[in-house]
This record gives sequence, structure tokens and C-alpha cells, in this order.
Amino acid sequence: MKIKTRFAPSSTGCLHIGSVRTALYSWLFAQRYHGSFILRIEDTDIKRSNNEYIKNIINTLKWLGIMWDEGPYLQSDRLTLYKDKITEMLDLGHAYKCYCSIDRLKKLRLQQISCGLKPSYDRKCRYNKISSNDQDYVIRFKNPLSGQVIFDDKIRGEIIFNNSELDDLVIQRRNGIPTYNFCVVIDDLDMEITHVIRGEDHINNTPRQINILKSLNAYIPHYAHVSMVINHDKSNFSKRKNACNVLEYKNQGFLKESILNSVLRLGWSYHNQEIFTIDEMKKKFSLRHVSKSPSEFNFQKLLWLNHYYLNHIPIDNFLINQLKKNLQKIDIKYSNDMNFTKIIDLMRSRCNTIQDLAIQSRFFFEEITILNIDVIKKYLFNKHNMILQFTYDKLSIIKDWNSSNIVDILKSMSKKFSIVLKNIFMLLRISITGSETSPNISVIMEILGKIKTLCRIKKILKIS
Ligand code: GLU
Ligand code: ZN
Repeated sequence: MKIKTRFAPSSTGCLHIGSVRTALYSWLFAQRYHGSFILRIEDTDIKRSNNEYIKNIINTLKWLGIMWDEGPYLQSDRLTLYKDKITEMLDLGHAYKCYCSIDRLKKLRLQQISCGLKPSYDRKCRYNKISSNDQDYVIRFKNPLSGQVIFDDKIRGEIIFNNSELDDLVIQRRNGIPTYNFCVVIDDLDMEITHVIRGEDHINNTPRQINILKSLNAYIPHYAHVSMVINHDKSNFSKRKNACNVLEYKNQGFLKESILNSVLRLGWSYHNQEIFTIDEMKKKFSLRHVSKSPSEFNFQKLLWLNHYYLNHIPIDNFLINQLKKNLQKIDIKYSNDMNFTKIIDLMRSRCNTIQDLAIQSRFFFEEITILNIDVIKKYLFNKHNMILQFTYDKLSIIKDWNSSNIVDILKSMSKKFSIVLKNIFMLLRISITGSETSPNISVIMEILGKIKTLCRIKKILKIS
């Protein structure tokens, strides 16, 4: 049998880390067994659904490369199919119209609660056959009254529900729109889904869905319920603490590889391996090794992973363009004749994200401002001006502008003024980058070029 999985987000919010994990696991599972993966958007909740969320879902998955083989299907396009199935179920006697008023149901509920009972529908209309022209009804599924629903969850093992605990589920609302549980069942059946991989918040829906499938004599798919994602400090995964919208990470200069790795490892492990290529993920992923316990999302680990990838991917057009985009975002104008490859090569080991890379490399692209000249004086006392002037003169006669020739000059300055080389470097570092910390200053000077370097030194000479 061909494996078919699906990702079925509701379009009532942006994709967050937990939902991306469900998508990733479903996709990898299909990939591993050469099956197919379907994207289905559950948009029947008209009030809360929004096209912006549909775009967000699609763009997030595309960014991460979690590509679907079929879809995206929208449930709102499939209402006729659900209607037909509901009619079929009514005809077969698997469903019935419930004319109970909202008021009656409310009273019933309060009564049950006051007697310490679990609120549930008393099945009045299941037993009292009423035929009415009244249009104000819901349609309910005739849940079996006895017996059990047993399924072998691929992550949690055997799960048992007693039918006596299950209500007669509403499958069509008063407004004629079918309910979530019903659409899921009909879609999973129609799309021939073999494995339903979804969040553990759906465990209670599973026996109801299985009962509906059974009433239709349909194939029952395998189910796997993935645990919750919580914060590193064990608190619930809240919107405030982490980027609720995964696409936000893209804006912040994260790479898709680090998001995929971080999400993959939320509750799934493979020996002690930390880093996986996409191909390795596809080959090694299995539901058997997904943990039952809640998974901790650790932002520090995501940063660490992103640092790893930022420093291991080739410096090609992709990375250069990403840097350019991030420079634009912080309003830095760059000229294309800068050597972006060398800048990235020099700077990336100290950056976690591409946004960091843009911020930390900004001195290559824009004039620096020295707010406090005392920072320079701190290193060479009052001799700094004379030393800078000499250095300037010597640097201006370099013909072949490269870091080794620059270092030779700086060494000769260090000798001439009996000053440790480190302090000469610092003097230039502050003059050229505006900061006391930077990578190798002679390499920076080489990349910046002779004219810009000398200009910056001159500017300092004027103000100091
Ligand atoms: N639409 C549901 C959700 O976003 C998922 C349904 C399912 O996977 O069965 O939680
Ligand atoms: Zn009723």
C-alpha cells in the first residue's frame, strides 16, 4: 500500500514551531517510505479563518522546503462532498437530526453539572423519531452505545476508549456547515490517507473519527499523536516567549536548515547525532523514536544550530543575497563592488544569524562615527595622533594593498615608536571600525580597500 500522509492546519493562525514539527514529521514519514504528502487547509471555521493565514502556512512550508505532492486542498471547496456524505449517513441510519433547542441543551448541561455528571447529550432525538419541517436542527452521529475503540498509536502504543464515554457527535451545525471532526474523517477517507500524524490535542477526537469511519465501512488509518512543545523553562509554549510565527525566524536571518534540525530534534533522536542533512532526515526518520513526553523548545540551541549552518554553508549567491537583504532591512546602503565573499568569510564565525552578520559588518558599508575620541587616547595616550599620522603616510605608499603588506607597515610602526603591536592594531581598529572588537584588522583594511581605509584614518586625524 502506498503511504499517504497529510498536514491539515486550520487557517486560524500562523504556523508555529509545534505545527511545523507535525508537518515535518508527516512529510519525512512519507518521504522515507516513498509515499506522498498532502497539504489540506481546514478553513471551515469561517469566523476565525483568514486568507493571510493560508498564505502564511504556504509560505512557511515553501521556505522550509516541506513540499506537498498534492494540494493545497481547501475544505471550503469541498462542502458538497461533505453534504453528500451526511445525506448518505442519514439514509443509512448512522446519523440523525437533533431538533433540541439551544435552551434545552443548556439546561441539560447545567443539570448534569449540578449532579456531578459529565455533560453530554441525552440522545433524546436518537430515540424519539420526530419528523419535522423545522429547519433548526443539528445532525448528530449515532455513536455505538457499547464496546470499545482501540487503536495502536504509533507513538504512544495502545489507546482504549469506552464508547459509553463518547457523545453523539454533532457532524453538521445549525447553519448547515459540517463540523471539524466530520470533515477530517471524510477527507482522510477520500484522500486515502494511511497515516494521520498530528498533535496530541487530537487524541480525544480519534475514537470519534474511527467510529464514523467504521460506520462507513472504511479503512482505518494508522494514527500517531505527537506531544506538546513547551519552553525550555518547562512553561507552556507561549506566544510571547518564542516567535509564534515561524516565518518570523526567516526575517530574523535564520536559515531553514537550522529550523528544520531544531524542529526535527524536538522529541526525536537518532543515537547521539545532533546535525542532520535533509537527506539524512529522510532516510533516518521513524515514528518509533518520537518521544511521548512534551518536547522542550530551546532558543539557545536554535541559535547554536544556526551558527553552525551559517558557518558551514558555501559562500555563494544565496548567502550574499541574504546579507544584502538584511543590510537593506537595517537601512544600510551597499555598493556591489564590495567583496561580499571576503566579508562573510571574515565575519560569520562571530555571528549567529544573517541579521547579526549584517549588523556586525555594517562598518564595511557605511562611514563610522567615533562618538568618544577618548577611546582612542586610552590606548596610546597623547602620542596617538603622531602615530596615526606616520601610519597614514606609510600606508599611503603601499602599492600592493594586501593584509601582509599592511602588517609589515604596522610592525615597523610598532618598532619605531616602541609600542606593542597590539596597541597599534587597536588604534587602527577603533579608527576604522569604530569598535574595540573586530576580527583581524589588517584583513579588514585589505577588504575595505586603500582609499576608504585612508579616508577613515584621515577623519580621525582631523578630530583628534
Ligand atoms: N486542523 C487541525 C489543527 O490545526 C488538525 C486536524 C488533524 O490533523 O486531524 O489542529
Ligand atoms: Zn435532540
